[in-house]
Amino acid sequence: MQARGLEVMGFFYRHNIHPYSECLKRQENLEAYARQIGLGLIIQEGYDLEGFIQNVVYREKDRCSYCYHDRLRTTALMAKRGKFDYYSSTLLYSKFQNHDLIKSMGESIGKSTGVPFLYEDFRSGWKKGIDKSKDLQMYRQQYCGCIYSEKERYYRKSDS
Ligand code: SF4
Repeated sequence: MQARGLEVMGFFYRHNIHPYSECLKRQENLEAYARQIGLGLIIQEGYDLEGFIQNVVYREKDRCSYCYHDRLRTTALMAKRGKFDYYSSTLLYSKFQNHDLIKSMGESIGKSTGVPFLYEDFRSGWKKGIDKSKDLQMYRQQYCGCIYSEKERYYRKSDS
């Protein structure tokens, strides 16, 4: 996006990344990369793990809808406060997320907040992104973010 001449500002949302040590690891990695490429960065204040859990408890299987919505809405409101022309999301890069849902939520939040959602299918850069992160010896996350996804990644029934 920078290469296309767009002025980009990053926003790092923290509440869904558990445990806190993992959140810090990802954040520090992003901060180092942002310095390298001259990307401005806003880091979300606080760390509301409790609020995140309270919002998904009893509907853990549908937790991603809440998570997408809160991440997109928080980003759009941040963009509105900063008078940005558009907002978007790195969620659009992932092959593991519900891309169509993110697109429709992003557009609808764009309408309700008055900050248009910049949609693009960034999955086309999936392989390139992986190769580049390996070349740069970046820390690579092993699970999506929340504690539930950490369990899905590592827990095997045979462990117990
Ligand atoms: S799996 Fe990922 S997208 Fe879904 S709730 Fe957890 S952190 Fe959010």
